[in-house]
Amino acid sequence: MTASCTWSDWSCKVRVTVDRESALEDARAIVIRLMDDVAQSVDRFRPDSELSAINAAAGRMIPVSRRTIALLDTAIEAASATGGAVDPTIGFHVQHAGYDTDIETVRASIQLARPLTLQQADWTRVRVDHDVAAAGIPAGFQLDLGATAKAWTADTAARDIAHALGTAVLVEIGGDLSVAGRRMNSWQVDVGEQSGVPAQRIGLAHGGLATSSTAVRRWRTSDGEAHHIIDPRTGRPSTGPWRTATVWAATAVEANTASTAALVLGDEAVAYLNEAGLAARLVGRFGQIWTTAGWPRDVKAA
Ligand code: ADP
Ligand code: MG
Repeated sequence: MTASCTWSDWSCKVRVTVDRESALEDARAIVIRLMDDVAQSVDRFRPDSELSAINAAAGRMIPVSRRTIALLDTAIEAASATGGAVDPTIGFHVQHAGYDTDIETVRASIQLARPLTLQQADWTRVRVDHDVAAAGIPAGFQLDLGATAKAWTADTAARDIAHALGTAVLVEIGGDLSVAGRRMNSWQVDVGEQSGVPAQRIGLAHGGLATSSTAVRRWRTSDGEAHHIIDPRTGRPSTGPWRTATVWAATAVEANTASTAALVLGDEAVAYLNEAGLAARLVGRFGQIWTTAGWPRDVKAA
């Protein structure tokens, strides 16, 4: 019997669904524990996280945990795979756009627009020393692993649960879904622009599915509305024609890398997704929907 539980963390909805009902409590504990560990590593709002320590030490390398190294490697891989459309050095730019504390507080006020005087993001300047487990960025840069850490956590939790508890599992963290373990049928998942507002139900047999959107994490500034997806080329919120991208890939990390990149790349997103051979669904500024050839039309195995 499938069993599921839902709660809130990281300002988003977390859901774990397992095939074997008796595994649910242990599965939930694995997700909670991993999310705590990942927050300790890379939560930019936690002054005691390792990411905050790297940012505070910008200009020199500091020792970090193996988990933080894995998260940094994932972020650098995403940057390399997207030609820098996904770039973990947009930390200052996200804050500069107004997203400098938890989203509820940001939404509750009107941010005063600031002139852009920041260095351009440049992921090639991040240094990770695997031998001594140390990491650093040059002065003038700040890391933000928001585009890959949630997906990494969903992938890792799903894999750990399937392995440790011997059940098929679906882990969802704020729009990043990852499945692991064997089961007869694919998981039925709702795709939409935000949690609780489904637009299409599809089958997900394996891998990961991720949705990135500029429609939800938005706030007001004295210069108009802003959102949380930064175009590393301009350092400002992206301005492309797509407001939401959902991608299916081998892992949630790959899916989220592509969904973030699609929003950043704007007019080039369709060519990028087609070339990468990914199944994707884009929603435009006016609600128009575009899907790649591989995207499922209705409920059937993805
Ligand atoms: P969503 O939260 O809608 O799923 P993403 O998964 O794309 O969106 O993650 C967006 C987060 O990633 C932002 O809140 C910010 O922390 C970070 N970010 C924003 N723009 C970029 C970018 N171009 N490259 C890497 N990280 C980004
Ligand atoms: Mg995401």
